[in-house]
Amino acid sequence: MKFSDFYSGKVILVTGGAGSIGSHLVKDLLQINPASVRIFDNNETGLFDLEQNLKSEKIRLLVGDVRDKERLIVAMEDVDYVFHAAALKHVPLCEFNPYDAVKTNIIGTQNVIEAAYIPDNDRGTLCVSSQMGCKMGCLFCMTGKQGFQANLTVNEILNQIRCLPEWHELTNIVFMGMGEPLDNIDNLMKSLEILTSDWGYARSPKRITVSTIGIIPTMKTFLENSHCHLAVSLHSPFNEERKKLMPVENVYPINEIVQLLKNYDWTGQRRLSFEYIMFKGLNDSLTHARALLKLLNGLNCRLNLICFHAIPGSTLEPSTNETIHSFKDFLNSKNLLTTIRASRGEDIFAACGLLSTKELIQQKNIGNSIGD
Ligand code: SF4
Repeated sequence: MKFSDFYSGKVILVTGGAGSIGSHLVKDLLQINPASVRIFDNNETGLFDLEQNLKSEKIRLLVGDVRDKERLIVAMEDVDYVFHAAALKHVPLCEFNPYDAVKTNIIGTQNVIEAAYIPDNDRGTLCVSSQMGCKMGCLFCMTGKQGFQANLTVNEILNQIRCLPEWHELTNIVFMGMGEPLDNIDNLMKSLEILTSDWGYARSPKRITVSTIGIIPTMKTFLENSHCHLAVSLHSPFNEERKKLMPVENVYPINEIVQLLKNYDWTGQRRLSFEYIMFKGLNDSLTHARALLKLLNGLNCRLNLICFHAIPGSTLEPSTNETIHSFKDFLNSKNLLTTIRASRGEDIFAACGLLSTKELIQQKNIGNSIGD
């Protein structure tokens, strides 16, 4: 089935349909012959303009104010698909085109999720979120410090991709934004199915990477039901040290994770990588490098070294460039394929949870000044 057939003949509701992203979405939807499109927004002028522009279209159109709850509830009754375009806004903060999304629910509260678009020559990578906040509490992560608010729905995950103005230029998708993807396994798996199916976005699973801190039960589900790449956050080969950085080590120790991964075939096109954030004086010694070699021995994988982004209120510091390069050279000389991942988000706050934290702080400040 083609993507267009999937929505053809369906009743579709778009919240935020009069905004700049929403009206693009509506125009796209009109091309694929839906039975009816219902457009809600709180922008009365935008709705009026849209209604005028679309009245010659031969589809059943319903336009309404999103604050009119009764009308909205009636409009939702026989809907097949809902697009929350209202939830999304494009914020061109800098040259890297970071893209963040504001989720607005029906009662009007706002929470923030983030996705970062990273164009690089002929590649365009989008880093998407799977949850709003996170339960895992990793010491080095701003999302972890926000606590957990909600799992993102399939729609909210896919909206980050589909509503990106540059979405036609996307070559790679990485689930490395807010949240632990394998802690939202049902919606992750449905999103991956839609992204990679012929009837969906028909993207290659070889261009999609899911990152996890290593939740063993759902990692098995992912490995057995998807062909996408896997990236495991490692950060220390030593049990006690990893526990301090990542509380999940208490439940799913890294050696058990590695043992499980050794049961799968990584010799084909599917790629296994380990992420290793380098912290000065903590996990960047020769002893750590040797322990990594021992831990990953026999596994067909690569190790990505990442320079740490300093975060507010943390004493963790980034390793020096010199240390990171000699760490990499040593591991490569021992035949563990090791690369240094380009880290370009620091100056725009586009590191794990930083964009959304910044947005939340701004919202709080606005709220406080309104209250003053
Ligand atoms: S690093 Fe990932 S799993 Fe850990 S707290 Fe941050 S978002 Fe959650």
